Amino acid sequence: MKVIDPHIHMSSRTTDDYMKLALGGIHTVSEPAFWPGYNRAGVASFHDYYNLLTITEPARAARFGIRHYCWIGLNSKEAEDRQLSEEVLAIIPQYLDRPTVLGLGEIGLNKNSVNEIRALESQLNLAAERNDLILIHTPHLEDKLKGTRIIMEIIRNDKRIQPDRVLIDHAEEHTISEIKAHGFWYGLTLYPDSKGSPQRAVDAIEIYGSDRICINSSADWSVSDPQATLKTANEMRRRGHPEELIHRIFYENPKAFLSQCPKFQG
Ligand SMILES: [Zn+2]
Repeated sequence: MKVIDPHIHMSSRTTDDYMKLALGGIHTVSEPAFWPGYNRAGVASFHDYYNLLTITEPARAARFGIRHYCWIGLNSKEAEDRQLSEEVLAIIPQYLDRPTVLGLGEIGLNKNSVNEIRALESQLNLAAERNDLILIHTPHLEDKLKGTRIIMEIIRNDKRIQPDRVLIDHAEEHTISEIKAHGFWYGLTLYPDSKGSPQRAVDAIEIYGSDRICINSSADWSVSDPQATLKTANEMRRRGHPEELIHRIFYENPKAFLSQCPKFQG
């Protein structure tokens, strides 16, 4: 089978994981910029990181026959330091035209704070000016519904942004309906032992259908599984879903969303 993982942090993974992706049929990935698990000391660290995402990882992936795309942005967890945040926002534009950058991401909210909202608005404005795709991170746990609503309201108030060029990730059962109703794409993130299991993701497909959904592993430096998309596809198969539907969910859907950026080649 052919799979695109639209949200996976390969810079945190080993080359063994690239081999596992290739053997499983995952030949295209996209990696959003995010928090590394510790606080970066200054803007130079962000230069290094954006170079890692746009130069090092595509080359590392290519050794395994995998196309690696990325998203550039300032993650909400890193928006609380106002001065550093301003410095990082000032360097982001110089990376956006690189050949494997698909847009702004993952940007969004974590604790729904004033500083997070300020950094989000600034990056949404940049995406709107450039007509770039947007990949949104929504808060986890109890802040999720409120944060998702704040994000959608900010985006919907900017008439330059078309909702079908925005993927709102880390959606859950209580946020999917509203995200879909406003015309956005939504992402389900899989986790090995918390939040989104393969069974739960397939339940969501059975309830909400296959339109505008992208399923991803979000595999990173913490407990996560780069083969989670394959396991979820297998759960669909086990329940008797047709191969055509599995192909649509794991390949055609992410391809349709990502292809809105002309740099993306299946
Ligand atoms: Zn992520």
